[in-house]
Amino acid sequence: MFGEKCKLIFARRLKTIETFEVQAYIKEMTTEKHSLIGLSLEDMTSWALSVGLRPFRAQQIYHWVYGLGVRSFDQMKNLPKNVQETLAETFHLDRLDLNTAQTSVDGTQKWLLSLKDGQEIETVHIPERTRGTLCISSQVGCTLTCKFCHTGTQLLVRNLTAAELLGQMFMARDVFGEWPAPQENRHVSNIVLMGMGEPLYNYENVKKALAIAMDPAGFNMPKRSITLSTSGVVPFIEQCGKELGVNLAISLHAVTNELRNRIMPINRKYSLEELMAACQAYPGTSKSNRITFEYVMLKGVNDSLADARGLVKLLKNIHAKINLIPFNSWPEAPYECSDWQTIEKFAAVLEEAGYASPIRKTRGEDILAACGQLKSLSMRQKKSKL
Ligand code: SAH
Ligand code: SF4
Repeated sequence: MFGEKCKLIFARRLKTIETFEVQAYIKEMTTEKHSLIGLSLEDMTSWALSVGLRPFRAQQIYHWVYGLGVRSFDQMKNLPKNVQETLAETFHLDRLDLNTAQTSVDGTQKWLLSLKDGQEIETVHIPERTRGTLCISSQVGCTLTCKFCHTGTQLLVRNLTAAELLGQMFMARDVFGEWPAPQENRHVSNIVLMGMGEPLYNYENVKKALAIAMDPAGFNMPKRSITLSTSGVVPFIEQCGKELGVNLAISLHAVTNELRNRIMPINRKYSLEELMAACQAYPGTSKSNRITFEYVMLKGVNDSLADARGLVKLLKNIHAKINLIPFNSWPEAPYECSDWQTIEKFAAVLEEAGYASPIRKTRGEDILAACGQLKSLSMRQKKSKL
């Protein structure tokens, strides 16, 4: 609407302006272009039909965008020039702005990305010998205020769009030059939704982005290479399993409602009993395809041997694996990490019950890139100025 009004005002003024360049510039300034990144094949097909193109053109465009990562419309070589121009009039292929990049001593990279409205998110890349995991954010901040999590202390919160979710994957593929994605030894072989935010509070956009990520004609990531971590938004867990079928990780962190209510406010809405029932019913779990239960080790809070035994009991009817996460500290954090000896004793109880290698190796701690440490840099700076 606003764009149309501006165009009219400018059109009147334009009568006196003759040069093509100036007119083109003003058109650019006053026309709101949409991100092509973020559109599904169905969206692209609707658009193609609306401008009189046949559906196969949408398939070609989709492949150029998600399969080959082109940055301009004139690179879409099998499209006629006029189609390239029509696309360029309506859409852009802009990437997210890289604000800062940091690299940890262990090779982990953290990117602070700026969004069009000035908000910021963080995305982390964790390299391994023959693969790499991209940890993406699903929201700016998080509304859930878990007591041990830095992201939960960020006041400003909004959902990321499908374009912004995919934008983080584009960032990584651009950095590693993985267009098209190689068959083996990919730098971006796995995706975890374990960055900022609660993905199941942004389900529709997450669903749209992951569907494109998993589409062989899109990003071509197998569903088993994607893990969605949730604090326990029970009503969406089943839907996520049915519609997406990605690996599920549950941020558990406590084995009684009393303690979980205290450290994870979402438990007051969806109790441990409801959460465990949703996990038991999660489609597609088996011995070889287990749900991961994340358990952050908080000194003197949830790290007793009774807690370890309670954990084993709680998970006995679920195909589960356990990730004990040493608490990653952040400025003014209200907890400390359990002693290493305590973590090992806790892990021994789990190992005895059949859970293999339960301790998760922390990566990127020196650059505040580890689990639960993400919070946009400018938010940290604003707070420290205050
Ligand atoms: N909101 C989702 C996904 C993002 S958090 C969720 O909570 O699952 C990714 C993981 O890091 C979660 O298991 C979270 O509980 C854990 N985490 C949060 N703060 C942490 C901290 N300070 N140290 C270690 N792990 C933390
Ligand atoms: Fe949000 Fe997850 Fe952090 Fe809780 S642990 S505040 S749900 S990002």
